[in-house]
Amino acid sequence: MADDLPLAGRGCIVTGGSRGIGAAVVRLALAQGADVVFGYHSDEKRARALAEELSAAHPGRACVPLYAQVADAGEAGRFATAALGHLDRFDVLVNNAGVTRDTLFARMGPQQWHEVIATNLDSMYTVTKPLLMPLVKQRGGAIINISSSSGLHGIPGQTAYSAAKAGVIGFTKALAKEIGARGVTVNAVAPGLIATDMTAAIPQDKAEFLKSLIPGHAFGSPEDVAHLVCFLASDRARYITGQAIEVSGGLVV
Ligand code: NDP
Repeated sequence: MADDLPLAGRGCIVTGGSRGIGAAVVRLALAQGADVVFGYHSDEKRARALAEELSAAHPGRACVPLYAQVADAGEAGRFATAALGHLDRFDVLVNNAGVTRDTLFARMGPQQWHEVIATNLDSMYTVTKPLLMPLVKQRGGAIINISSSSGLHGIPGQTAYSAAKAGVIGFTKALAKEIGARGVTVNAVAPGLIATDMTAAIPQDKAEFLKSLIPGHAFGSPEDVAHLVCFLASDRARYITGQAIEVSGGLVV
């Protein structure tokens, strides 16, 4: 393992890789030597442009975009099977796809609740399920699930999201115990406020208030999260499992 290529030869599957944190993970994993298949949902054009750019930058490495609807078990299964078919070997799963539908609980309709739970939490089942046995049989690999500070602390206006992201942490800790003996690590990464399309939707006055809760008074970058994800994906983190690690600049909520 070259020092600067800690993911050399590793095959990675990343959901929600077309934008934001997922795209930063795809970018960094390739730069660290991995082959990557990533999912997109609504924005095929953006996903293809990213794959073209990264394939040109890293000749000889796979960078493949595939359609994925992680809220649906059938679609997720088709994505997983197709993703495996594009990789010589499979070592790392990053469950990153997610959505917010922020509103006070008193105003929340059932559709908002179900969409948030399906995309952020059901996806832990739909995507991980078909990809688990290949890792277990191989007796090695890493699963990294993207949670949120919202799941650790609870954030008003995010009851469904907080519930889903707390569920991601419970899932992570239980699965880590189930498959630890097979050499597969399972960890959660909990970002705070990261500058992506997701947080661009926050109204200016609320964004300023949220920044005042961060010791450095600034949102993090997708790369701040990607560095931890890629570390957890590498052999350097082989003795870290069942953890939920916050990347929030010390956000206090
Ligand atoms: P973005 O909104 O920038 O990107 C979301 C990604 O998820 C896109 O690639 C999108 O695909 C994909 N996606 C959305 N819905 C689905 C679906 N149903 N099936 C498959 N893919 C889907 O979000 P971020 O990069 O900010 O967030 C990434 C993860 O980090 C999420 O899990 C989020 O909850 C979490 N997070 C983000 C924080 C932040 O401050 N930004 C804070 C804490 C956690 P497409 O582009 O094709 O629509």
